[in-house]
Amino acid sequence: MSTFTFTIIKPDAVRASNIGNILAMINKAGFRIVAMKYLKLSEQQAGQFYAVHAHRPFYSELVAFMSSGPIVTAVLEKEDAVASFRTLIGATNPAEAAEGTIRKLYAANVGENAVHGSDSDENAQIEANFFFSSLDRF
Ligand code: GDP
Repeated sequence: MSTFTFTIIKPDAVRASNIGNILAMINKAGFRIVAMKYLKLSEQQAGQFYAVHAHRPFYSELVAFMSSGPIVTAVLEKEDAVASFRTLIGATNPAEAAEGTIRKLYAANVGENAVHGSDSDENAQIEANFFFSSLDRF
């Protein structure tokens, strides 16, 4: 069954001019882009998006990083989208990411790790709704 996931191309990957490379990998892996935006989060918005991590020691670092420059957000459709996309992006820490994954290729470290991918269908919906209305989806 075709399902949805949500992704962010993070500020480090945008700064390194890797938007095109990452979107090419996403398309080659068979995802359909349903919605897409280029924007910059305020610190307050980044804090809200990552509120589930508020108790973690790296939260303030994460919020500062995610509001440090423009990002690309997108909703992606594919069979088993959440799991398939987590495989494509690789482990959170690029040092542990499998060869050929987006994070192995483009991430610098565990914090500045190039891309976000939802970890469940429920979170994919919550995260997509944070950035997109139903009118933005095609
Ligand atoms: P993900 O689902 O693979 O993105 O990983 P998590 O949900 O565990 O963490 C969310 C995001 O927080 C990661 O993608 C990183 O950008 C950031 N992060 C995770 N661990 C660390 C850390 O130890 N230090 C810093 N600075 N950021 C981290």
